[in-house]
Amino acid sequence: MSDIIDGKAFAASLRESIAQEVARLPFKPGLAVVLVGDDPASKVYVANKARQTVEAGMASFEHRLPADTRQEDLLALVQALNADDAVHGILVQLPLPKHLDSDAIIAAISPAKDVDGLTIANAGLLASGLPGLVPCTPLGCLLLLQDRLGDLTGLNAVVIGRSNLVGKPIAQLLLQQNCTVTIAHSRSRDLPGLCRQADILVAAVGRPEMVKADWIKPGATVIDVGINRVPAHEAGKTRLVGDVAFAEAADIAGLITPVPGGVGPMTIACLLRNTLTAAQRISGVST
Ligand code: NAP
Repeated sequence: MSDIIDGKAFAASLRESIAQEVARLPFKPGLAVVLVGDDPASKVYVANKARQTVEAGMASFEHRLPADTRQEDLLALVQALNADDAVHGILVQLPLPKHLDSDAIIAAISPAKDVDGLTIANAGLLASGLPGLVPCTPLGCLLLLQDRLGDLTGLNAVVIGRSNLVGKPIAQLLLQQNCTVTIAHSRSRDLPGLCRQADILVAAVGRPEMVKADWIKPGATVIDVGINRVPAHEAGKTRLVGDVAFAEAADIAGLITPVPGGVGPMTIACLLRNTLTAAQRISGVST
């Protein structure tokens, strides 16, 4: 039976250390979150972000806009936030309603305040191995891995998924840590065979319990990024599962993240980390 990585506890201690650093700053870092429309899941995420931002001693600026907001009005808000000295981080909650051009909105965010790490400038800095702002969920995965494994040099890492939000940035971060990285995707051949070579297996696919026990090298570290809602045994109810068949995988892996309670809680903690980093860089003040 593998050791379970407690992302909830790690995220709580990370938030605590961020709050201590924030308290030592001579000003309050500010995070602006923009929510367009009333997608119920996005509303919950935004409320959690705002609560944890305030708990860390930072200022939270919430901008809730109607679903029919025009592109030029959203762009004008992003530009106003870029120019606002009280705002050090800007996050536009995705997905945006279909009539809006998400790429153009993200491109309008100042890279120095892009705490989601989604601008082309920050993606380029990451690919070049230069300091920028790194997407929150990938950063959370790296921190969990470093906490449990220490130096990752020379380890074989397989990342399933190549999205700009998760798969690609995780692969870049692992490469920076001197892992030998394979990125797998929907067209990869012999995915189980590829995965069995991994000392570190990261699943970021969005397919419930796709990774089975016999895909995992005995003793490997398994990081499950997937969040999938599936029907529960009880009629009419749902439950969350990852991309890894946890119960059987836990018999083979050395270390494994559960869903929920693994990578998920790290995302907001890393958003706060990025807001603090952005505030320190913009102000030139560090703790
Ligand atoms: P995405 O944009 O849909 O990307 C999914 C990736 O998985 C794609 O690269 C796709 O390959 C690949 N894929 C799909 N089916 C596959 C298959 N059968 N075999 C191999 N690869 C396959 O999703 P995402 O935004 O990266 O998110 C991935 C998962 O992470 C989702 O469950 C999402 O909810 C979760 N997530 C969690 C957090 C968190 O805080 N824990 C944050 C963000 C996302 P192609 O490129 O070839 O299509």
